[in-house]
Parts: sequence; C-alpha cells; structure tokens
Amino acid sequence: MSTDELRKRYEAAFMPNYGVPPLALARGEGCHVFDADGREYLDLIAGIAVSSLGHGHPALVEAVSSQVAMLAHTSNLFLHEPEVLLAERLRDLLDGDGRVFLTNSGTEANECALKLAIKYGKAHGRSYVVAAENGFHGRSMGALSLTGKAAIREPFGPFGLDVRFVPYGDADALKAVVDEDCAALFLEPTQGEAGVVPPPDGYFAAAREICDSTGALFVADEIQSAIGRTGAWFAFQNENAKPDILTLAKGLGGGMPIGACVAFGQHGGIFAKGDHGSTFGGNPVSAAAALAVLTTIERDGLLANAAAVGETLAGGLAAIDHPLLAGVRGRGLWRGAALTGPHAPAVEAAARDAGFLINALQPDALRIAPPLILTAAQATSFTAAFPAILDAASPAGPACAPDARPGKENQP
Ligand SMILES: *Cc1c(COP(=O)(O)O)cnc(C)c1O
Repeated sequence: MSTDELRKRYEAAFMPNYGVPPLALARGEGCHVFDADGREYLDLIAGIAVSSLGHGHPALVEAVSSQVAMLAHTSNLFLHEPEVLLAERLRDLLDGDGRVFLTNSGTEANECALKLAIKYGKAHGRSYVVAAENGFHGRSMGALSLTGKAAIREPFGPFGLDVRFVPYGDADALKAVVDEDCAALFLEPTQGEAGVVPPPDGYFAAAREICDSTGALFVADEIQSAIGRTGAWFAFQNENAKPDILTLAKGLGGGMPIGACVAFGQHGGIFAKGDHGSTFGGNPVSAAAALAVLTTIERDGLLANAAAVGETLAGGLAAIDHPLLAGVRGRGLWRGAALTGPHAPAVEAAARDAGFLINALQPDALRIAPPLILTAAQATSFTAAFPAILDAASPAGPACAPDARPGKENQP
C-alpha cells in the first residue's frame, strides 16, 4: 500500500490523538529507513531515541528471533533467564546496587517510581511530590500528574495527588519546596520533550544534596537519556549525582517495548509482595532484546561513538550561520537545535523532503536523536545538507537565504 492510501485508512481507523503522521515507514536498515513508496531517509530520530542499534541489527534480530521461537511469554507467575540476566546486567552498570522492576514502557516505569514514592511518603509522613515545569514523565494518570506541561496535564486532572511544580534549573526554587514533608522529587537530567534543554551546571547535583538533607527521594527520569544517549550509560553519571530511584525505557530494548524502574539501597525493598505487577512487563522477548542492546553497546564501543559522533554533529550545526538557527544544545547523540522562531514544523518537513528524519518537538526546537551506531560521515551528510534545508523552510522560501537567492522578487 502507498503512503497516501495508508494515511487515508489510518485517519478513518484511528483516534485523532496523533493526527495523521506524514510518512508510513515500511522497513529499515542500519541508520536508514524506507517509506511505503520506497523512498530512503537517514533516520536521525530513531523512533524517539528508541532504536539505539538502528534498524535490522543482526544482534537484535538474532536475540529476538531465537527467543520468540523458544518462549515468548511467561507472565510473572513464572520467571525466566533473560529477565534475570537483564536485571543483573543493569545492576552491574549501576555499581552492583539496585533492585529492578521491568515494565513495557516509560510511563509504566514512572508509575512504579511514583508508587514507591507514595508508599515511602505514607511510611514517613510525607504528603507531596515535586516535579519540574515543562517536564515530561508520561501519559498514564500517575505519570501525567507529574508532567509539567499544563496543556497536556490539566484537561485530565484532578489526579488525587499533591504535585508541586518548580521552574526547571533553579536550585533555590527546589530548596524552597523540597522539605521534610516532601516524599519525592522527580527530575529529568535534561528535559527531553521540552526541547532537549539541559539545566545549568551543578543543578542535578544540587537536587541530590537537597534530597539528602531533607530525606525526600530523588527520582531521575532517564527514560530518554539512559542507555548511551549522552555518551554515558546513564546521564546521571555525567552529573556526579546518583538518584535513589532511576527510570529508563526508550533506548533499552532497541525497539522492543521494555522499561525499568531501579531503586537503590534500602529503597529497593519498599514494595512488599503484592504491591505491584505487570502481566507483560519484562517478557522474555523484550528482555532478550535489551540484553542484546547492552551487549552490543559494550562490544562495539557505542558509548564512545555517541560521544564522538555527537560532537561532530553538534560542531557541524554550530558552524552553520543561518537566520533561522539560534544554536545547538544537548550532549552525545541527543541534541536540540534551537530556532529563531516557530519554524520547526517547516524545517522538519524540508528535512524530510531532503531525505532526513528529524523531529519538530517544540515550535522553535528540533530534536536529533539518531541510532547510537550513526557514523561521523552520516552526521556530516546531514550538517552539510542542513543550510539548504533551512533555506527551504524559510518563511519567504529559498529566496530568503542570500546565497541561494535566484532573484529579488521573492523578498518580503
Ligand atoms: C518518553 C518519555 C516518557 C514516557 O515514555 P512512554 O514509553 O512513552 O510511556 C517519560 N519520561 C520521559 C523523560 C520520556 O522521554
């Protein structure tokens, strides 16, 4: 079926919450994907920072195929080897500490963290939770109650939870609200959905200290930032501030749905038997996929690759002098390109026309979060093409850019 036909049928069959996506993707290979009409694109968004090994990676194909043939599902009535190996691998990456709960998604990892925080709060007379304005923690009701963007939260409230929001990046604001009555502080190390916005240096470590001095749990939502995205396994490792509870998901399964909530030290024992559960969470196929992702990242040096190619990408973008481009931020293969106005949808579309998939994540910010296997040459192919993409997206059309101006007639 063609993209056009699929889009028409999608529109009739699905709820309108996503609108109708512009492309139907049919297959992928490495860092490239092909749409239903056979057009090829360099995938610089990786299904929202998920496809860490790119598409069709042999290690992932082998792990998933052999596991699904052997045993696809057990439920939590029975345990299985891939989940045990995965939890142990995660602990190894986290100084041997931590107890793990496996989920199917990011929002479920945060639901687990929130239930831990609520139980901790009830045990210690702590009645509210703190999160950051513009933060994103998911769409299910608990995680949504923590999500700092009023436009997506408020239509579904109230939530029956006392959540207090503080401006992101302001340590004094944290100090004022995280006290002995606060059960937990939820923070992203860099705000992903807000536009890949890092906080000022030292903010995350200050949050750790404030939680230490007040006894509030420090929950790091690393659903987008973990598993190599920033060039470290976990972004908190860049900040010298280990949380009490860590949530991760997106990049962990390389495209298979899996997330995790890890609670450190005594907090690993907050749940009693029966307190939480999931039928599908940590199923053998997703767990095998996650193991393959972790093994491949290690074997192929993909943390170093993300750091190095991320610098190439950011350097290439920073060197572009264009009236639409305000700057580049972020770390590793997780970058936000700030625009000078609400041009992101037009730039996303122009990039697509030029064969590159990027994501307009705010009206004035683009997200670039490619597979961790991206090569420097691939990054450079994009940064070389980007000035012309920006020209094509300019409000007055290509004539806006002096070098590409065919004549004066299109000038405003
Ligand atoms: C994507 C994301 C979530 C939600 O994950 P889902 O798998 O979509 O439920 C939560 N927190 C952060 C920081 C995210 O980036």
